[in-house]
Amino acid sequence: MRPEEGEALDEFEIIARFFAPLAADGPGRTAYGLRDDAALLQPPSGQALVVSTDTIVETVHFLPEDPPESIGWKALAVNLSDLAAKAATPFAYLLDLSLPVDRRSPSRAPAWLEAFTDGLKALQQMSGIGLVGGDTTATPGPLTISITALGLAPEGSTLPRSGAQAGDRLYLTGTIGDAFLGLQLLRQPGRAQSWQLDQEDVAFLIERYRRPMPRNALTPALRAYARATIDISDGFAADLEKLCRASKTGTSIDAADIPLSPAAQKALRAEPSLLASLLSGGDDYEILAAIPPEHGHAFAATAAESAVSVTPLATLDDRRSRISLCDADGRELAFHNKGYTHFPPTE
Ligand code: ADP
Ligand code: MG
Repeated sequence: MRPEEGEALDEFEIIARFFAPLAADGPGRTAYGLRDDAALLQPPSGQALVVSTDTIVETVHFLPEDPPESIGWKALAVNLSDLAAKAATPFAYLLDLSLPVDRRSPSRAPAWLEAFTDGLKALQQMSGIGLVGGDTTATPGPLTISITALGLAPEGSTLPRSGAQAGDRLYLTGTIGDAFLGLQLLRQPGRAQSWQLDQEDVAFLIERYRRPMPRNALTPALRAYARATIDISDGFAADLEKLCRASKTGTSIDAADIPLSPAAQKALRAEPSLLASLLSGGDDYEILAAIPPEHGHAFAATAAESAVSVTPLATLDDRRSRISLCDADGRELAFHNKGYTHFPPTE
């Protein structure tokens, strides 16, 4: 997919050819075909805008060899996950793309851009969000994709991390640790053998790293029953701690209760010391929600109607200093880092 000399496009051609077809033009969202200075948004009356932004950078959040279609998908998915965490309905997004100035960079090729926009389009169609603008620039650095997502939520229906109360039950969507394993397998394919994974397991785990599925389908269940929510992006242990600290609550979770996929269970059986890494590796894009105990069953039933699997984990208490994850023998798990951090303290 390396562009031949002269084949790389300028930003106006890129916008017109690849992004204009994704432009939202319809009720409440006017993008003017991405040919104007700004877009016009008109949220329906009674709805508030919920806004979030996330950047993904080559080699930090995705690998240069990742299929461009999955890079487009992931850039939008990580933003939709933040909207899912706040039970906001996807509405519109802006795309800021910094492409390497080097014409030989694969991402300067029309075929790369086409596949990249296919990934955006697939998730855009699935979620109902529409592209309303952005910026396209050259960078001497790595390929960088920044998306700002706007969602709609009924006015007054907030779901802050700080809303949980002692006695609430914690529920988690999906499974944890798959993306961590997928990334390790991409970096060191030989691990498949030591973890006794078959081809299907490997493909599943890599897919979980490359194409996270944002849990926007959970929005009705969260709106109806949740008191506080967070999306698990940096690492389960770190994000659990953030929700507990914001809510001034504590909890103790038996690691055996944390849902793992069959592939992750196999890897863990082969290498039990992986447990802490699965729970802190990040890139899960699952939702952790605090639900009042009397609504637990109704929440799980509503989530099931939306085809999102949820697992009850533990109860929150008012001992804020106590946020622990324990192994089968009740010993507290030791973490090197509870989650991903871009600026780790020097060793
Ligand atoms: P300006 O110079 O006024 O900032 P630009 O040339 O940067 O205009 O952008 C022209 C139009 O194309 C604007 O509507 C902008 O929102 C849109 N646009 C530019 N880059 C992107 C992109 N990567 N994705 C979506 N829309 C884009
Ligand atoms: Mg601009």
